[in-house]
Amino acid sequence: MSERVDVEQHRADVARLLAGLADRPTEEVSVHQGALGRVLASDVVAPGPLPRFRNSQMDGFAVRAADVASAAPGVPVTLPVVGDVAAAPGEPAPLEPGTAVRIMTGAPVPDGADAVVPVEDTDHVTFNGARDEGARDNGVRGGGAHRDSATKVEIVRGRAAGEFVREPGSDVAEGAVVLRAGTVLAPHHVAAAAACGIAQLTVRVPVSVAVVSTGSELVAPDEEPGPGQIWDANGPALAAAVVAAGGQVGLRLAVPDDPEVVRTGLERAAALCDLVLTTGGVSQGAYEVVKDALPEVTFRSVAMQPGGPQGLGRVAGRPVLAFPGNPVSAQVSFVVFLRDLLRQAGGLPPVRQVPAALDAAIVSPAGKRQLLRGRWVDDAVAGARVAVVGGPGSHLVASMAAADVLIDVPAATTRLDEGAEVITWPL
Ligand code: AMP
Ligand code: MG
Repeated sequence: MSERVDVEQHRADVARLLAGLADRPTEEVSVHQGALGRVLASDVVAPGPLPRFRNSQMDGFAVRAADVASAAPGVPVTLPVVGDVAAAPGEPAPLEPGTAVRIMTGAPVPDGADAVVPVEDTDHVTFNGARDEGARDNGVRGGGAHRDSATKVEIVRGRAAGEFVREPGSDVAEGAVVLRAGTVLAPHHVAAAAACGIAQLTVRVPVSVAVVSTGSELVAPDEEPGPGQIWDANGPALAAAVVAAGGQVGLRLAVPDDPEVVRTGLERAAALCDLVLTTGGVSQGAYEVVKDALPEVTFRSVAMQPGGPQGLGRVAGRPVLAFPGNPVSAQVSFVVFLRDLLRQAGGLPPVRQVPAALDAAIVSPAGKRQLLRGRWVDDAVAGARVAVVGGPGSHLVASMAAADVLIDVPAATTRLDEGAEVITWPL
């Protein structure tokens, strides 16, 4: 192995190699479909106020507050009901002093009215009951044929001006930022955009990654392995990791240990994608096919365990990272070297590292940074006590599946006592 570097050196070199990914192009997505999980490229500004117009917060009666100021239980104020306003298209007639209109939640409050008295505070009690059946003609404005009982209302509680009236802009003012750039769009963000009449959102185009598994022993997880064959864990794992970090998988390949086939595959991957990821064929064995196929790439030994053998460089101008083949090594490599860069390129924040206390003492070889698999001792409490799961073997995929975090043991550390504080990388 030519070069030996530490983890921070390799992280810095990978960051330099991938610096060009930071400037993502943008595209438009519809609020109707395809916006979920995408990352906003720019602030979304309200094109107008929300609510758009003064409307009622309750089912009740729109009144002038001054007309009902004296109302109280036992001393009601009786007003003629001169109309009916529903949440429906149109503009209600102005309210004359000394009158009321029946109004529904969300309906425009007539000019001249400055408060809404909830139906519960009147002798109507509800608009659904027998008491009010003659007046249940939603959509009718400015009065209509009402039964006698609905043509007046007894109000038993006064309301101050503004009560139960939603003012325009009280949710968001025209020109104000509704959603910030970098927001990962969830249903409540889509709701706010749609409510503002924004049908298209500008999002970042995710980094497109080619995931290339190498190894003549590999078969797909839905194939029957013959003697000496194993299922490809890295392809599906890294494809999932890419998507989880905000990227997209532009190509998935599994290639045998034939340098020419690998070369052809990687050139194709480079032509199609922003970044090429390979696994396998980078250690010290006899058939290290990625090394053989990519003479222009730097292969080095990083002082870490697992994930020591690493490659980085360019193929046909496109950045390539070569991860080791052992599945635990490949996944740890992704977390340590690529995850945050990919997230950053997609506009996502880095995954925050979490301090924790070791559940039991450990020993660690000198000179190599260990990334042990760890599990929260009390499932409910992340960031409390963490226990090592599985052994150091980088083939232990099932143990890794039981882990919540990677426990980061510095290269110089050879022993940590029970209760010692460690930094963990959430998986
Ligand atoms: P290599 O670095 O190619 O020598 O691979 C190291 C070990 O990881 C070998 O035992 C391989 O069989 C295994 N390995 C390589 N690639 C994969 C993969 N995609 N899925 C599962 N195991 C793999
Ligand atoms: Mg191999």
